[in-house]
Formats: sequence, structure tokens, C-alpha cells
Amino acid sequence: RPRVLSGIQPTADSFHFGNYLGALRQWVDLQRDHQPFFFIADLHAITLEQDPKVLRERTLRAAAQLLAMGIDPARSAIFVQSQVPEHAQLGWVLQCLTGFGEARRMTQFKDKSAKGGEGAASVGLFTYPILQAADILLYRPHYVPVGEDQRQHLELTRDLAQRFNHRYKKTFRLPEPYILKATAKIGDLQNPTAKMSKSASSPAGIIEMLDEPKTSAKKIRSAVTDSEAEIRFDPEAKPGVSNLLTIYSALTGEAVTTLEEQYAGKGYGDLKGDLADVVVQFVTPFRERTLELLDDQAHLTAILKQGAEQARSVAEATLRDVYQRVGFVAAS
Ligand code: ATP
Ligand code: MG
Repeated sequence: RPRVLSGIQPTADSFHFGNYLGALRQWVDLQRDHQPFFFIADLHAITLEQDPKVLRERTLRAAAQLLAMGIDPARSAIFVQSQVPEHAQLGWVLQCLTGFGEARRMTQFKDKSAKGGEGAASVGLFTYPILQAADILLYRPHYVPVGEDQRQHLELTRDLAQRFNHRYKKTFRLPEPYILKATAKIGDLQNPTAKMSKSASSPAGIIEMLDEPKTSAKKIRSAVTDSEAEIRFDPEAKPGVSNLLTIYSALTGEAVTTLEEQYAGKGYGDLKGDLADVVVQFVTPFRERTLELLDDQAHLTAILKQGAEQARSVAEATLRDVYQRVGFVAAS
């Protein structure tokens, strides 16, 4: 079975619909006929300042949400990144293979350091795409299911894999991004040309998976649209309405063109009201399952421990090859 790998940062109390439709739903689907490794990226989370207590809580909340949406520990290794030290170890080797200018071209650094200015950003934020390359390459996956914002990092990952293979010996598989076009970039409800983001969106701009259902409904009803009245899919001219149609279509399985026909002659209020209902139906049971899972933290940490052991057995073997090829003397 082809291998897949992906990760998500525990940088908020809840995942949002961008995470779910852009990536996590594919994680669940790919479990059926792939061999998956899914991790909670706490090493990445600390590239921006985190409160230690909150980070710990959010990591467990992330695990509970992944299980609640259908990640099955019997099919997938689900683990916490910091519990598998090989990520940081391979990360160092790959940093030494990356050009400074090459790292500088990563646009997420520009976006994420914009607030405080480049000088205030951590070096970890600058090098995090290289750690991400290590996260991926350790498991030699065929596919990496992610949203559009990760495409550039996947290209860097492939470049580094190729460079290592060329300089030393063929060690890494070149992974393919697995990006579903329709949902690859879910927009912020208040600023629909920007992506919905855990750390950058305002609360009104993100539909959180763990929001009170009535809060989600309210956010959808106050989503930014445009001054026309026509319900039409046109991301350039009508980003707000198109974003709502995308979410609607993804959750119901109705084609966007079918929705356009269905809403011909109707107003934005009708579309928003119906979408709010669809979202409420979806999040209500999800929220209940997550809260139930969070009640049994011993169970959660046991699943994560087992996942880390599965992941480590693969990661250790890859790192051993890498160290040997780079020229490090083995301890025994
Ligand atoms: P942060 O703002 O802290 O970076 P995030 O919302 O971008 O958080 P990540 O943990 O960085 O979430 O990403 C998890 C996965 O969700 C990645 O595969 C990413 O590509 C995907 N993703 C994030 N936001 C969106 C979005 N708006 N639309 C589609 N996919 C998304
Ligand atoms: Mg992100």
C-alpha cells in the first residue's frame, strides 16, 4: 500500500473548515487503501510563541479532533512530532543541505513574520520548511495530502530529497503533493481572498470545528459577500459567494453548478441560511465526539504513544541510513 504522511499544528483550540476540507478529510479517506502517518506538529507550533500549558492542551485537543473525524489508530500511525526525535535530527542534516537564499524564497516566512517584522521573527520560523521536509522524507511517503499553501514547501522537500540522493546515494522517495483543487484554499469569511487560518484570521473569519454550532451559523450569516444579488461561482469577481458555494458543495457533495441552478433567483440570505444548517448538522456530532474523547486523556496519550512507536520504527531506519551516508561514525 502506498504511504501517505501529513501533519497539522496545534496552534489553536480547534481546527477550522480550511484544515478539514483542505487536508484532514483527505487524511480520513486515504486511510482505506494507504499506509498513513499523521502527526501533530508541536515542533512547528513553537516557531511562534506558545504558552506551555496551552500548547499541551491543544496537542491533546488536536488528537481528539483527529480521532473524532475518523482517523483510526488501527489503520494510521497518529503521533506527536516531538515524541519522535528523528524529525529534529534529520532536520539538521537537511538544513546543512539548504541554501540560505533558497530558504529565503519561502513565502510563508514573509507572511508569518509580517506582523512583528522580520527582525522579531525566530530563526525557527525561518527554517521550519526544512524541518517540514525532514518530517516528510523520514517516512518515504508517496503522497502528502495538504492545502495549496503547502505546495511551495513540497517543492523544497523534493529538491532537498533529490539533492541528498544525488550527493550521497538514493535514500529518499520524491513525494507527490496530494492537493484537491476544489477545496485547496478555503477563504476567510470576512476576507475571502485570504486563506482561512488558525493564526491569522479574526474569529469571525474562521468556522471552527469546535465552535458552538450556533456560533458557526452566525458567522456564516455574517460572511462578507458583494453588492450584487446573483449566486454565481466566480472566485475572481465574487470571492465571498464562491467560497460559500465551495464549502456548501464540499459538505453536501452537490456540484457547484447544481447549487447555482438551485439558487437561481434566490438571495444571499437563502444561501447563507441553508449553508448554516448544513454546517450545524456537521459540527454538532463532531463536537460531541471530540468532547467525549477529551474526557479520557489516558486513552488519548496511550494512542499517541503507540503511534509514536510505530512512527519511530520507520524514522529510525531512515535516519540510520542518512547518518551512515553522510559519514557519521556509528555508535556500535
Ligand atoms: P497556522 O495559521 O497556525 O499556520 P493553519 O490554519 O494554516 O494554521 P496548519 O496546521 O498550518 O493550519 O495546516 C494544516 C493543514 O491545513 C495543511 O495541510 C494546510 O495546507 C491546510 N490548510 C490550512 N488552511 C487552509 C485553508 N484555508 N484552505 C485549505 N487548506 C488549508
Ligand atoms: Mg499554516
